[in-house]
Amino acid sequence: MKHPSSSVGSRTILATSIMLIPMLLMATAGAFFFVKIVEDVAEAEVEVRDELMPVIELQTLLLKVVMPPNDYLIHGNPEERINFLRLAKDVNKALAELDVMDFGEEQERAALSRVRNLWTHAHDLGNEIFEISYPPEDLRAAGHRMERFDKVVDDAIVELDQLHRYVIDELGEHVERVERTKIDASVTTLVTFAIAILIAVIGGLMLARTILNPLRTLDEGVSQLREGHLDHRVTLPSNDELGKLGQTLNAMATRIEKLATRDELTGLYVRREFNRFFREEISRTERSGRPFSLLMVDVDHFKDINDRYGHRAGDRVLRTLALILNRDMRAVDRVARIGGEEFAIIMPDTQADAAMQTAERIRSMAVAKKVHTPEGHMMSTTISMGVATFPQHGDSMEALVEAADQALYRAKAAGRNCVRRAAAAHLTVNASVGKTG
Ligand code: GH3
Ligand code: MG
Ligand code: MG
Repeated sequence: MKHPSSSVGSRTILATSIMLIPMLLMATAGAFFFVKIVEDVAEAEVEVRDELMPVIELQTLLLKVVMPPNDYLIHGNPEERINFLRLAKDVNKALAELDVMDFGEEQERAALSRVRNLWTHAHDLGNEIFEISYPPEDLRAAGHRMERFDKVVDDAIVELDQLHRYVIDELGEHVERVERTKIDASVTTLVTFAIAILIAVIGGLMLARTILNPLRTLDEGVSQLREGHLDHRVTLPSNDELGKLGQTLNAMATRIEKLATRDELTGLYVRREFNRFFREEISRTERSGRPFSLLMVDVDHFKDINDRYGHRAGDRVLRTLALILNRDMRAVDRVARIGGEEFAIIMPDTQADAAMQTAERIRSMAVAKKVHTPEGHMMSTTISMGVATFPQHGDSMEALVEAADQALYRAKAAGRNCVRRAAAAHLTVNASVGKTG
């Protein structure tokens, strides 16, 4: 199985970058649609400003231009002619402005052309009205001419209305386009948003898998250590920052385990561990029915060694003895330092006779071993041992230790440098009920 080896940092950057892609997509799409809408709106605005306004202005002028001939016929004021000429000039100017505008639609151009013709006709009719002397001799003819003038101007205004509608229709097309763009933009935004969420979720899950899982393993490891399970180790597949943290945690656990379970001077198990092994061994024996033995070891006249050669020389003796014990025992045997110069050995699945043989072998090795003091003197020590077997000599931890201690005491009493076996059963109060003393 291939494990990710990139660092947490680079994975975080990668995941964040992947999550940024849809945001960039959304921003690009947004900008595209924004520009499109702005262009459409701008075109519509041009349409209104350049086409619609001049048309409306021309209509207003045409509405005004009928007034002076009418007023002239009623009141006979010659100044009305000047007004008419001025308005006619304005109308011509407005028409000229519309001429230069290029209307896109054929029908628009045709309508404009009709307006121009109608106005030319109306202009002539207007001028003719001012040719009539005031008051008119033939009132009927004058009225008739005025009506015709009104009618032609009206027709021009109606044509302009038509042109007006064409322009409005075009505006409507622009509005429709903007509406369509709006819908396109909404759909695109929604789709991109959905993709963005999907990518973010996938990226987040991937990141969580490669960061959260190792973090959980580390958290579990720390909890196990806190609860005293000093043999717990974490297994992290990656070699990234978290993997290295796991290695450090394991190294720390090994160190703590050693400090808590091993004696600093000899490297043997401490008394608390000895007690734990003892309880485990009792349970095992109770299950299997196979007895185990306990060896109690005490250095003879150790005080004299300290007094004679010094404390450091005494430490050397303890370390050497620890080496002998450790080397000579089986892997399943548990060797502990339970006091200053006292050791205890649990021998699983071992009868009293076999335990006695092992004890005797150790004793003779200890005698044979010569230890140099720091100053170069030669020292030799002896050890005394007591051997007791579970459940034969004691059916609880306290009872068995007591039995082995008493055997050790007898070895001391017998002159030291020897091994003694526990003599009688030391049974606990409960266990001894009903037994003869
Ligand atoms: P016996 O043969 O009856 O066992 O006599 P002993 O002198 O060995 O017994 P005792 O209990 O009187 O003396 C034990 C000595 O062990 C006393 C103490 O100073 C010494 N001792 C205890 N722990 C250490 C240690 O870690 N290093 C050294 N160098 N001496 C220690
Ligand atoms: Mg002692
Ligand atoms: Mg001693």
